[in-house]
Amino acid sequence: MKPFFKNYRLWLIVLMVVLISILHYSTAITMGYMHEFYRLLYYLPIILAAFYFGVRGGLIASLSVSLIYLPHLMFQWRGEFPHNLGRFLEIILYNVVAVVTGWLAGNERRERTRYQNAASELEKSYQQLQQQSEQLREIEEQLRHAERLSVMGELAASLAHEVRNPLGAIRGAVEILEDEIPRDSPNREFVEVLKKEVGRLNQTIDNYLSLARRVPDTVTTFDFAAAVHSVISILAASARKQKIHFRFELPNGAAGATITVRADEAKFRQVVLNLLLNALAASPAESEIHLRADLQKVSGLLNFLIEDHGAGMTPEVLQKAMQPFFTTKPSGTGLGLPISKRIVEQFGWMMNLESEPSRGTRVTIHIPLS
Ligand code: ADP
Ligand code: MG
Repeated sequence: MKPFFKNYRLWLIVLMVVLISILHYSTAITMGYMHEFYRLLYYLPIILAAFYFGVRGGLIASLSVSLIYLPHLMFQWRGEFPHNLGRFLEIILYNVVAVVTGWLAGNERRERTRYQNAASELEKSYQQLQQQSEQLREIEEQLRHAERLSVMGELAASLAHEVRNPLGAIRGAVEILEDEIPRDSPNREFVEVLKKEVGRLNQTIDNYLSLARRVPDTVTTFDFAAAVHSVISILAASARKQKIHFRFELPNGAAGATITVRADEAKFRQVVLNLLLNALAASPAESEIHLRADLQKVSGLLNFLIEDHGAGMTPEVLQKAMQPFFTTKPSGTGLGLPISKRIVEQFGWMMNLESEPSRGTRVTIHIPLS
């Protein structure tokens, strides 16, 4: 309870006692019925004090009243002992009433606080429950989303298979036509375009299928640069549409020598794809996504960096970015980064993320070269 209210009640009781006493002492003895009334009136502050402040408060009030009333009894009602006996007993009664009322009120209050505590506990667990069910609903929603995506992935894979066969037929037909068209014909150029585009389509589908195919872990030694290039080629068209340019730099002097790494190549490509998709989603038009491989001779590490100059992440987003299902995109899955991190760590590599809002993001993969 606020101190002000406590004081307010205290002062009310003191005021009542003082007022009754003044009236009591200033009333002529001859007006006996008024004295009866004031005596009874004393119960009011005593009961109030006991009610507000418990046994102790009640007793303080009743003892004060007793002390104030006693002189009155002794001097003004001098003599007449049998008459006064009842009034002495009344003084005892003041104190008994104070104790009993205080005790009952205290009990009441204890019960009430117990119920209040129980109620607030109940309220708390109810809120917790509600929060948990909210989380559960969210997770369920995310799972449904993931399921839908995996179904779409399967559909896309079968679509790719469907497209591959007619592509083969088209290529065959183009080759036949090529033989029919004389070398110096201006139409020859169109055949070249057809051949090139069909070849590119085929390559894209091959790359896609090699990514989508669910195969058991097959660790091989493969050409790092070629694997990265194949992922870039999958995304080339959509990057072009967004006017975004990929720049892939290999270590100085390694132009001739191929860098070979040992891992599951399909999974490695998936990591690169996830990271490039994120970079593409964050990058503004006319910007560049920079892929760089640095060879650290001393530690035998190949550091593979993917940098974009996009929106970047706030520290809060950066902290959560690797958590499964964390996404800031309306139709994101929140799985790209956590899956990539898992794969990279399975390889015994390391991946880390640096980002600054409106400056861009840099993902580094540390690849030990055996
Ligand atoms: P998704 O791409 O489906 O949202 P990810 O796990 O790939 O899931 O990424 C999680 C979140 O991390 C993204 O929603 C985005 O907020 C942030 N993020 C990841 N990569 C980048 C990036 N290159 N630039 C800015 N934000 C990024
Ligand atoms: Mg992603």
